[in-house]
Amino acid sequence: MQNRPELTVTRVRHPLKFRLLQVKRVQALTPLLKRVTLTGEDLADFESASFDDHVKVFFPEPGADKPALPVAGPDGPVFPSDRPRPTARDYTPRRFDRAARELDIDFVLHDAGPATTWAAQARPGQHLGIAGPRGSFVVPTGFDWHLLIGDETALPAIARRLEELPAGSRVAAILEIADFSAQIEFDTAVDLHVVWRHRNEAGGQDDALLQAVRDTYLPDGDGYVWAAGESSAIRAVRQHLCTERGIDKTRIRASSYWRRGAAAVHESIDD
Ligand SMILES: Cc1cc2nc3c(=O)[nH]c(=O)nc-3n(C[C@H](O)[C@H](O)[C@H](O)COP(=O)(O)OP(=O)(O)OC[C@H]3O[C@@H](n4cnc5c(N)ncnc54)[C@H](O)[C@@H]3O)c2cc1C
Repeated sequence: MQNRPELTVTRVRHPLKFRLLQVKRVQALTPLLKRVTLTGEDLADFESASFDDHVKVFFPEPGADKPALPVAGPDGPVFPSDRPRPTARDYTPRRFDRAARELDIDFVLHDAGPATTWAAQARPGQHLGIAGPRGSFVVPTGFDWHLLIGDETALPAIARRLEELPAGSRVAAILEIADFSAQIEFDTAVDLHVVWRHRNEAGGQDDALLQAVRDTYLPDGDGYVWAAGESSAIRAVRQHLCTERGIDKTRIRASSYWRRGAAAVHESIDD
């Protein structure tokens, strides 16, 4: 690993703001991935500096039209005292168009949970709240190679990264999805090698992602690994890359985007 200052990851902070938005369009990208395009004047000063960003999405309580959004107080969010706190989950800002005041969020439809239940029935005119991003973890684009790893929940971030990386960047993506119907096309100018692993064909095998990463050749030069998905799968991948493949811990960003059996999990995986 060489000392190349231009390859230093930076963190950007953004002011805390809560935004009330309305659904403009809904589109099925695959049978289990739904794009919801949100709009509203509150997006005028929205910022998302990294594909790794997330917003907290606030859902209306059952029977309510709009979520009970907090306001930003001196010590953090202050929720209305006369209503229950709204349910919130983390999602990736997949595409933002300031001029059109449009923000796309791609929702994975899984078995059950307030976010997935909302997304399954989403239709134009409905309201959602978002908070953030509070901060952005900005990974430089100039690495000699990039390795992107994840399951369906990481597809929005990975698809965005593939659009944002400069033409000709050397990128490998290792993606674990349910089956062929969950595959998406990427709009990218990078030199891309994609490995799709179909969970259902592997009999629901838990370590499909790890096995695919084990089989992956890592080129010479300065590379960066970004990985997100189910907590134990991503932990195992990170452990393998750091201990068996010699990836420096400063050159990997690994996050739990969900954990089997637990609601609303978000963790950066470090030592
Ligand atoms: C930074 C960040 C960015 C994220 N970006 C996206 C994104 O762009 N798109 C996206 O779809 N998700 C994304 N996620 C994941 C999403 O926040 C979780 O999947 C979330 O738990 C879904 O909420 P829920 O209400 O549907 O389920 P919850 O109420 O949180 O969980 C209910 C049950 O469902 C299980 N579960 C949760 N998620 C899944 C899943 N994907 N597959 C199978 N079982 C699951 C849980 O283990 C739990 O048992 C992101 C997460 C983080 C932390």
